[in-house]
Amino acid sequence: MTDPQYSHPTEIVTTGQLERHAGPVDRVPEYDPATREHLWITLVMYRVDPARVEAGEQLILDSVNLLSAGLSVGCFYCESPYAKRLTYRPCPGEPSP
Ligand SMILES: [Zn+2]
Repeated sequence: MTDPQYSHPTEIVTTGQLERHAGPVDRVPEYDPATREHLWITLVMYRVDPARVEAGEQLILDSVNLLSAGLSVGCFYCESPYAKRLTYRPCPGEPSP
């Protein structure tokens, strides 16, 4: 199956309770139960032109269309918001119920 947004085979990536489609750049490492390290991330938002997305064009993400970055930080695996105390605790690898 091909995702027209990316024009390449669609891959579903699952971690914890999240399920997402892999994009053209997907460097999220799998959770490692041996190290139990959190993967601290932040969201970055860009304005995109829907016409370019539909045409399958390569999206240009730079300072011109950057809307916001670094508003919050959290762990990709356990979805906990960053707190210094969590840096001392191992990551459970998935969100708490
Ligand atoms: Zn975590």
